Amino acid sequence: MVFHWAAAILDFWLASWRGARAWLGRPARVRRLWRALPGDLLGILVMRGCGIARPTREVESGDVTAVLVEDPRVGRWFDTQLMPVTAQTLGRYVFARGRIPADILAHECEHIRQWERFGPFYLAMYFGSSALALLRGREAYWANHFEAAARSRAVRETSKTKTRLKP
Ligand SMILES: [Zn+2]
Repeated sequence: MVFHWAAAILDFWLASWRGARAWLGRPARVRRLWRALPGDLLGILVMRGCGIARPTREVESGDVTAVLVEDPRVGRWFDTQLMPVTAQTLGRYVFARGRIPADILAHECEHIRQWERFGPFYLAMYFGSSALALLRGREAYWANHFEAAARSRAVRETSKTKTRLKP
């Protein structure tokens, strides 16, 4: 009996080690997932808090995977915020009251990259950027560095799509 358990534990340990080694073989991926983690946890929390059991769909967009939560109940969360919100990204989770159009998704995917880049520091940096804008007498949302980056990325990607659609 003891041997049986010891063998089971050893098997489990070897399997986990193999799994861990496969992961560690891709450090960039581990790092990115780790960094997205605080945002993902917030995303899951907000999703469940709105009474939504699971995301609507996942979209691969170049180097990122967006987990979309497209549900009118997301409004419960959006309504608590200071300004009107169309879509919002927490980690890899993108929230909207309904189906997210491509240009907005391109914008939100840049926020996913920002979450992956700055991880646990991202929210502080985001609000810090808005605070700096306000101190300079500019608009907190439009002059926010991360919003400006997301806007220009969306413009670039949307124009790329248009070019591709030309005959
Ligand atoms: Zn944005």
